[in-house]
Amino acid sequence: MKVGLIDVDSRIPNLALMKLSAWHKAQGDKVKWHDGMYDQPDRIYASKVFKFTSDYVYFPGCEVIRGGSGYDLDTKLPNEIESQNPDYSLYGLDYAMGFTSRGCNRNCGFCIVPRKEGRWHQVADIDQFWQGQKHLMLLDGNLTSDHEHFIQTCRQLIDDKIRTYFSQGLDIRLMDDEKAKILAQVKDWGSKRIHFAWDNIADEEEIRRGIEIVTKFIKPYRIMFYILIGWDTTLEEDLYRVELLRSFGIEPYAMPYDKTDPYQSDFTRWVNVKKTFKNVPWDKYERRN
Ligand code: SF4
Repeated sequence: MKVGLIDVDSRIPNLALMKLSAWHKAQGDKVKWHDGMYDQPDRIYASKVFKFTSDYVYFPGCEVIRGGSGYDLDTKLPNEIESQNPDYSLYGLDYAMGFTSRGCNRNCGFCIVPRKEGRWHQVADIDQFWQGQKHLMLLDGNLTSDHEHFIQTCRQLIDDKIRTYFSQGLDIRLMDDEKAKILAQVKDWGSKRIHFAWDNIADEEEIRRGIEIVTKFIKPYRIMFYILIGWDTTLEEDLYRVELLRSFGIEPYAMPYDKTDPYQSDFTRWVNVKKTFKNVPWDKYERRN
């Protein structure tokens, strides 16, 4: 069978497509990126991550299987494919990536993780997708959820000297001394910081408590906070959160809920262009919109 793959909009290499590639190659199928409308595979897999991006339009007349949060939240890989080692050669990766857990026990209204993946549950050990690479990107939605799993995962990362990037924000509200101490020993990946998230202004007390714990073991300049704006906060609350983090020497990173909104777009640019954030106060910032 000839299999064509389409990565519609991924911002990082698409894990599902890498697993599909590995599985089909193991069956003896020919797998390659779909190459436009004159390419005639027997089956196409198209993966789309975001709802707001446009779909691919040049599907040929063959079986097409669509998957990913950009299409729907229900389509899942069959277990035998989900458990495959990814075919890293598809993107020419020299690092590993994968999930050790899925789901989350919280229920933030803007987040698809609990709706798509359910409550937190372990799905793999690092050895199931790490093949000795120097670097690893961990994609878990809330790795911090389970104390034992977090400690064991960090211990393996330390023992195997794996330079790690936690791609999703860790939950500082669930940090304690033991977790923070072991997290501090995980080798980081280049200059990538350890990310936490502060989405809701009402969490200030828990966020402050978490920062106090984590900064006992990790210097503030190694920490970055994702700050969701435009969901249910006001400009004053957005400013308050980024300025509070600045006062701790921690870098905020604004995440707009709606990129087309003029205020969210301006505020995001002000915070995320570091030279501007450092030198120009918000009330002096020349907004584009
Ligand atoms: S804690 Fe994080 S992963 Fe869990 S529901 Fe909230 S945003 Fe999503």
